Amino acid sequence: MASTIQALPTEVVYLITAGEVIDSLASAVRELVENSLDAGATRIVVYLWPQQWRIRVADNGCGMNLEDLQQAATAHSTSKIRSSDDLWKIHSLGFRGEALHSLTTLAELEILSRPADGNLGWRVVYGDDGKAQTVEATAIAPGTVVTVSNLFGNCPSRRQGLPSAAQQIKAVQATIHQIALCHPQVTWQLWQNDRIWFTISPATTTGQLLPQILPQVRQGDLQELKLEIPHPTKSALSLVVGLPDRCHRHRPDWIRIAVNGRMVKSPELEQTILSAFHRTLPRDRYPICLLHLEISPDQINWNRNPAKTEIYLNELNYWQEQITQAIDQALRIDDANFKDAVQTTRVSKLLKAAEEKGSYQFNPSKTESTQHSLKAVAQVSNTYIVAEHPGGMWLVEQHIAHERVLYEQICDNWQLVPVEPSIILYQLSPAQVSQLQRIGLDIETFGEQLWAVRNIPTLLQQREDCAEAILELSWGGDLQAAQVAVACRTAIRNGTPLSLPEMQTLLDQWQRTRNPRTCPHGRPIYLSLEESALARFFRRHWVIGKSHGI
Ligand code: ADP
Ligand code: MG
Repeated sequence: MASTIQALPTEVVYLITAGEVIDSLASAVRELVENSLDAGATRIVVYLWPQQWRIRVADNGCGMNLEDLQQAATAHSTSKIRSSDDLWKIHSLGFRGEALHSLTTLAELEILSRPADGNLGWRVVYGDDGKAQTVEATAIAPGTVVTVSNLFGNCPSRRQGLPSAAQQIKAVQATIHQIALCHPQVTWQLWQNDRIWFTISPATTTGQLLPQILPQVRQGDLQELKLEIPHPTKSALSLVVGLPDRCHRHRPDWIRIAVNGRMVKSPELEQTILSAFHRTLPRDRYPICLLHLEISPDQINWNRNPAKTEIYLNELNYWQEQITQAIDQALRIDDANFKDAVQTTRVSKLLKAAEEKGSYQFNPSKTESTQHSLKAVAQVSNTYIVAEHPGGMWLVEQHIAHERVLYEQICDNWQLVPVEPSIILYQLSPAQVSQLQRIGLDIETFGEQLWAVRNIPTLLQQREDCAEAILELSWGGDLQAAQVAVACRTAIRNGTPLSLPEMQTLLDQWQRTRNPRTCPHGRPIYLSLEESALARFFRRHWVIGKSHGI
């Protein structure tokens, strides 16, 4: 049988390459919206008519003059790069000059555009070769309106392969959310079938925008941090961290990484983030953490996949280290974020419920104090330490605060010391014996059903319940689980009376821990009552002085 090699028809080539980038409603929306952002838009309106497979994106960006507009949809035409050298200097979201051209092969494309300095706009309809077919003057505001109709109309099998309309719409929403979080300064409006669907108001930072997208979290549940990193070239690292005692998720769905304005997948960096939250959250819970790296483009290779959602980062280890340090910093309680420690949701609800509506202006200078030491003032129920600080009053649970202190000490310095006489244990299973060996204990048979343990963790020295503690360790888990168990067992029990100096020592030690907000099981350690909330609760703004003749 004769075989012939033939060039694929051009339109098929288009479909193949276009298909890699635009394969759904959401990816078409993403490409158009990214063009708007590259054009410097601060206001973007997206209209969807899913049944008609029609999308319109209107922006107030720089617009295009007639010449550029006619050129915009021809193959590989872009205003963003000129040569291959430029690939290493990419600052824009787009650069392949492919999206609009692909859309002409997959759908009907019409663009209206007017440059900021032009007094006239133009409307262009493109043919499926990307060339301008209809060109006419039109009256529009400066900016660009792109309309894509009948998407995948020439390719019914493509449409059939797609998920249900409802799922596609969800995907569009997720896409807009992702992009909005990377560009918090933009105002968004989304329409579906000529009805307003949702809006996103602009914010100064990603953390301020997040509650609009994730309504369960409040501003006070988050800690933001921005670090300038001079090496290897001027870069920035921004973090939004959900405080582990305030919020967490049952799936790792809010660990997000953005690089230079675009959300990306980076399993390596996701792992770094997870590790940084190790032992701060309850079992099977995941942190909220948004990381945005702004790095010199020559440190990034976007060609890991065509949709530019995965990247290779130069000096990965270096970035992992920076990220770990930044998260550590965000989780501490220190000068920088002390005053941001607002009360928990429950308390604020309580205070709100009791609070009369009305404007109250708290004098912020009172909380600006840089002195941040917690001062122990009393113990309640032999369980809670009442601590005072310039911004208000905290209750610290003594057992778990101490557990956090001990746990970090143990992790930093897991030491085993010899015991004399040995500790004798009865009736261990082979699994228990090997578990004890795995965490470093020196254990040997001592007779029928008897074992001798010759060394123990330093912290367990001089404890009467040492044998019990070792039995507990033998029940499994890794070294870290063993460390948690030892910390928990050795920490001051609730119900133990403490003197003021003892409480003060504990507070001082606890404040210096790396993760003071939660214990290694993820339980919150303190409850804060901020002065501002207390003042509101006690209606200190009421002007009653005059009526009382004060
Ligand atoms: P790329 O974004 O990779 O350059 P596209 O095919 O998406 O390629 O866009 C082609 C060109 O059309 C862009 O480089 C830009 O100059 C212009 N363009 C597209 N959309 C807009 C817009 N909303 N506002 C201004 N110019 C735009
Ligand atoms: Mg583009």
